[in-house]
Amino acid sequence: MNASRHPALSATDPELASFVAAEEVLQAQTLRLIPSENYVSAAVLEASGTVLQNKYSEGYPGRRYYEGQQNIDRIEALAVERAKGLFGVDHANVQPYSGSPANLAVYLAFAQPGDTVMGMALPMGGHLTHGWGVSATGSWFRGVQYGVRADTGLIDYDAVREQALAERPRLIFCGGTALPRTIDFAAFASIAQEAGAVLVADVAHIAGLIAGGAHPSPAGHVDVVSTTTHKTLRGPRGAMLMCREEHAKAIDKAVFPGLQGGPHNQTTAGIAVALHEAAQPSFVRYAHAVVANAKALAAVLLERGFDLVSGGTDNHLILIDLTGKDVPGKVAAKALDRAGIVVNHNTVPFDPRKPFDPSGIRIGTPSLTSRGLTAEHMPLVADWIARAVDAAAKGDEQALGVIRAEVTDLMAAFPAPGLPLS
Ligand SMILES: *Cc1c(COP(=O)(O)O)cnc(C)c1O
Repeated sequence: MNASRHPALSATDPELASFVAAEEVLQAQTLRLIPSENYVSAAVLEASGTVLQNKYSEGYPGRRYYEGQQNIDRIEALAVERAKGLFGVDHANVQPYSGSPANLAVYLAFAQPGDTVMGMALPMGGHLTHGWGVSATGSWFRGVQYGVRADTGLIDYDAVREQALAERPRLIFCGGTALPRTIDFAAFASIAQEAGAVLVADVAHIAGLIAGGAHPSPAGHVDVVSTTTHKTLRGPRGAMLMCREEHAKAIDKAVFPGLQGGPHNQTTAGIAVALHEAAQPSFVRYAHAVVANAKALAAVLLERGFDLVSGGTDNHLILIDLTGKDVPGKVAAKALDRAGIVVNHNTVPFDPRKPFDPSGIRIGTPSLTSRGLTAEHMPLVADWIARAVDAAAKGDEQALGVIRAEVTDLMAAFPAPGLPLS
């Protein structure tokens, strides 16, 4: 443990400090392909670890339940203004603790328990909070689910329209966690309008791509935009709800006092910094590089004989269907992990296997792009994945060790903020 990196922590709680240090080494040495993860900047790390931790500030800027808010109000107002500017929306609430509570606040703002809500099915690429059964949103509301077409892996907008007109949901969610293709917000808007539903774009995964102009924006098409701040947007763990002026009061009331107490001001500060960074030309380049890397990686994976859901990607995410490789997703994911490549197992649409032991792995390029890898590295990344999956099929531990050494070697040349240099 290098005590100088976190001297107070090391002195007070060496056991905990050793776990943090080990995580820093793990993040430095591995190739992190989980598409919902990223590396925040040094500035975001600093803002998130300030004395803003110490302050209670229930309410909103200028309307608080506690005194001493002169600085907190400025910080939250700055985050709000930056969110509005970056995403082109009338109103932004930066207080939701994370993506799941942000979505719950949307239900609270617009729906009554028992109402019908419509979202993409979890095994098709949707999120738990879009009305899936095991989520509170699926037990307190009547969730109906749409999916993708078996032949194309794409959303069938005509089928979604038909279902929406039959079910008349109060809320429709578009967006998800395993969608490799562009979301047609205008198509969803016309469906929601016809069905009389409130339309929510949950752009948790793609907010950074939208901010950087690498994915169309939902602004102007949807009633509410829900997003996490810690995925492609590269901020601290948190979330935002954005909407037109007409919904501002309902959203704010739902977040506080409807669902939450005091906002996490250190996170609000980190969000403000991340939004500032995302408004820079360098972030536009970052967002486009994320997509270019994903497209390059998908092309090589296809060449190497992998089956990709929907045949490729338009964004940061690739869903590999391993059905034809005779290696279940979990076995492949665990083998890749031992090879220093961190992914997650995932269902594929119409998965013949069970959700806890599915057929796919989900990968993405936000993290490796943050570390500076470019399209020319993608053949190597694809080669590692192909070799590791082969090794998993053969039970060849030694091959995984060889890959791990190669990965560690490359990643040492691409540092990230807050991580130890080798
Ligand atoms: C990640 C994600 C969420 C949930 O965010 P948490 O911060 O993990 O609660 C919600 N919706 C979508 C589409 C997501 O990808």
